[in-house]
Amino acid sequence: MPSSIAAGLAGLTAYGAAYPRAQLFGPTLCRTGAPNKLAITFDDGPNPAITPKLLDLLAKHNARATFFLVGKFVRECPEMTREILARGHALGNHTDTHPNLFLCGPQKSEEELKRCADAIRLAAGVEPRWFRPPFGFRSPWLSQIVNRQGMRTVMWTRIPGDWRGKPAEWLIKRMNPIAENARRKLPPRTGYGGLTGDILCLHDGNHRHLNGDRAHTLSALEYWLPRWSDLGLEFVTMDETFSKTVEA
Ligand SMILES: [Zn+2]
Repeated sequence: MPSSIAAGLAGLTAYGAAYPRAQLFGPTLCRTGAPNKLAITFDDGPNPAITPKLLDLLAKHNARATFFLVGKFVRECPEMTREILARGHALGNHTDTHPNLFLCGPQKSEEELKRCADAIRLAAGVEPRWFRPPFGFRSPWLSQIVNRQGMRTVMWTRIPGDWRGKPAEWLIKRMNPIAENARRKLPPRTGYGGLTGDILCLHDGNHRHLNGDRAHTLSALEYWLPRWSDLGLEFVTMDETFSKTVEA
């Protein structure tokens, strides 16, 4: 194969693997069904240092969210996993050990998803219906595995980068586009740029270890949740938005 074509294919593959709204490796959900519906999602938990405070904060603002859990942490924190569900949030699968699935073969990928689902079922008695790949990386065989295990892949429209350890003010500013879109008050179905509501990707844990510091994520939400409510945004879980979710 000429090197220019090989480079092109490699580029396309990287795009399909990492670009959140790329559909090269199968359909993903990237938006809610209405511009006034915001799906807040949290990856890399449960995390004893943050998740309980986050659950209280969300309850205070009557907000429900979707938690993409790491299997190894679910096994360490089964009660917290049950608590997330009991508070009205949806549980999602974020693999067992948080590998880069683009570098994993089909068998390893299958096991990663299955072991996480097993951990969630054992802890909370439910089967996760939603899947988010670690680092947002997908592979040519992932979509089939996700489907076979009865899940759908959820990506995002907004990923402000709360894992970067920048000050809360930085993170608050990075989340500004959500409010800007809400202020435009676009009619249903057309949304910004002809699209619909945001799926926001945040992190309540650190995939490397338990008790990761995500205090800035809490601070940013403390700032934004009441403001988003005032702007008329409704907070929905992936379960709630499912029937109306747009396949991008
Ligand atoms: Zn993650």
